[in-house]
Amino acid sequence: MARGPGRGAVESRERKRLAFARGPWAKTHNDDPRVPPLTCPTCHAALSPTERYGTESIVCAQCRSIVGVAGGQVRLIGPQGDRARGLGESAPLPLGSRGRLRGKALEVTGVIVREEGDYRWHELALADENGDITWLWVDRGHFSLLACEGPHCVSMNDSREYVYGGHTLRLFGRGKADFVAAAGEFPFPIDPAEHPLITDYVAPPYVASFESKVWWVFEYVPVHEIVAAFGVECEAPSGVGCNQPAPYQRQRIALAVVTLAALVLAAVIHVAFGRNASDVPVVAATVDLRDPKNANPQSFGPFKLERRWNSLDVVVSSPVDNAWADLTLALVNEQTGRSYWTSHGVEFYRGWDSDGAWSEGSSSRSTLVRSIPAGTYTLLAHGETGTWSTGAPPHTAMVQIYDRPSPASNLLLAVGLILAIAGGYVWLGYRFEAARWEQSDFDPHKDNE
Ligand SMILES: [Zn+2]
Repeated sequence: MARGPGRGAVESRERKRLAFARGPWAKTHNDDPRVPPLTCPTCHAALSPTERYGTESIVCAQCRSIVGVAGGQVRLIGPQGDRARGLGESAPLPLGSRGRLRGKALEVTGVIVREEGDYRWHELALADENGDITWLWVDRGHFSLLACEGPHCVSMNDSREYVYGGHTLRLFGRGKADFVAAAGEFPFPIDPAEHPLITDYVAPPYVASFESKVWWVFEYVPVHEIVAAFGVECEAPSGVGCNQPAPYQRQRIALAVVTLAALVLAAVIHVAFGRNASDVPVVAATVDLRDPKNANPQSFGPFKLERRWNSLDVVVSSPVDNAWADLTLALVNEQTGRSYWTSHGVEFYRGWDSDGAWSEGSSSRSTLVRSIPAGTYTLLAHGETGTWSTGAPPHTAMVQIYDRPSPASNLLLAVGLILAIAGGYVWLGYRFEAARWEQSDFDPHKDNE
């Protein structure tokens, strides 16, 4: 879809270089009294082709006829009628627009519209300070600047893929281009009857078009750069340009680095907070269960919790054998008076039946209690016991409270969040590529029937 201006252009450039080699072209025809002024063969309006642009065709500003210019002679190539009306002004960059783009002072000297089916695009000819012509291709508001032109711009690698400047090109589209209209002047004879086959390949930011044995490689130019360079208003581009670099693609390395750093950070935080974890309990209590019904809650401690929020591993054990012991525990904050209640029990039963020996339960149990704020605490404990079959009630129960690091689930949550954000970016990147290839007949995101 990136269209070069046709086969004539390159030959014409070669001729132009030879002409330059013979000497400078300082004057236009109209400045030189020895050369008669050129006039339009249709309407006889004066034509002023610019010598230093090597102009070989010019569109009459009055009747819009395309006129060939060679050797001080003119010939009518063809009328355009209303197709070309206002084209010079309505083009993405109007004729005569001047600006400095990527280090070159450029002026829009010609506009061509071509189409394939219902898809239309603009080709803008721009002259630099030396009168050399370069091209901007405008696809639905997406601008691309000519980067290379000629039969050898693109090469083929060992895998028989086309390569431009180290970028492997992928087949994007193929079709015949029809001439629609032109305005301005061009360094080659325009041939409106020509319907060249054009094959496009992409490797963002490049698109390489093969047309009439010549490669035309264009590089994507963001529209804000065009606006800044030419000081014009431009419509916002629609959709994704076939060679538009994916912003997500560009950020991919940054994203990978940030993701990795976030994962490392999460792991470091996890380990750092876990470093205070100790095998020594912050409090170890032996609760007397000999006469639980008449006993007051027993008090243990005080002990300190240093972290802002604490996860506590409460381990209750009792020598239960065909018996149970239940403890009601309260952690009382000495500063605030606030208490945190929890209830823990252990039970263990065993016996014999037709299948042999069986047992059930355990004499020890551990429970994680989370989100206990920092402070000095006292542990209050009260117990109950019971028996089954021939069991005897236990006399004691042990409570050991360990200060635990943030649980692994916190780390997993953090990792999950980080990966979800990274995954979101990857998804956006996929969507962008899918939008790019929607316009292609060779969409790798679809199964080609
Ligand atoms: Zn005319």
